[in-house]
Amino acid sequence: MPEKLALFGGSFNPIHHGHLLIARSIFEQLQLDRIIFLPSAQPPHKPQGTLAPPDDRAAMVRLSIEGERGFEISDYDLRQGPCYTIDTVAHFREALGMDIILYWVIGSDSLVELTTWYRVRALVDSCRIITAARPGWEQIDWTLLRSRLSEDQIAVLQSGVLETPLIDISATDIRRRVREGRSIRYLVPDRVRNYIESAGLYRTGPG
Ligand code: ATP
Repeated sequence: MPEKLALFGGSFNPIHHGHLLIARSIFEQLQLDRIIFLPSAQPPHKPQGTLAPPDDRAAMVRLSIEGERGFEISDYDLRQGPCYTIDTVAHFREALGMDIILYWVIGSDSLVELTTWYRVRALVDSCRIITAARPGWEQIDWTLLRSRLSEDQIAVLQSGVLETPLIDISATDIRRRVREGRSIRYLVPDRVRNYIESAGLYRTGPG
C-alpha cells in the first residue's frame, strides 16, 4: 500500500483550533498515515508586516501537535525567500519516492484564490488538493478557476472538497483580540496561548 501523506502549509500566525480540527477530520476521512504542517517563513499571499517571527510560529505548531498520532511538522518552508507550493510538493516527492499519495490541504478561502498561485496548472497535476470548508466560503465560485484550469482539473478539485467541521476561527481575529487585551482561550490550545503571552506576540502591530 502506498503511504498517504498530506501537507498542510500556512502562515500559522498563530496556529488555532480551526487548523487543528480540519487537520484531524481530513486525517480520518482520507485515512492518512501522516499530515505534515509546514509553517511558511514568507507566505507569498500574506502581508509581511503582520507576521510573527517564523521560529515562534513553528514553535507554536510544535506545541499544538506534540503527541498527536500522525501529526508532524517540517521546517522545509521556513527557508529564506518565497516558498511556492509547487516547489515544496516537488521536494517531498523527491525525498519520499514515487510510491506515495500526496495531498495538499487548503481552506475554501484559499481555493478561490488558487488562480493567483504560482504555476497553478502544474500544481493541480502534481498533488491532490484537499479543501476544507470555511465559514463565509461554503459556496465555492468556480468561475475564476474554470478560466485557468481544464474541466478535468476542476473535477479533481471538486472531488477534493471534503465535509469538514465549519470552524469560525481566524488568525486575524486572534491577533486582534490579543492586541485589544481580550481572551483567546478556547480559540487556540492552552500551550499556544501561554506561548503568545510569554513571548509577547501580537500585542502591537498592524493586524
Ligand atoms: P489569517 O487570518 O492570518 O489570514 P488564517 O486563519 O487564514 O490566517 P493560515 O495560516 O493563513 O490561517 O491558514 C492556512 C490554511 O488553513 C489556509 O489554506 C486557510 O484557508 C486554512 N484555514 C485557516 N483557518 C481555517 C478554518 N477556520 N477553517 C478552514 N480552513 C482554515
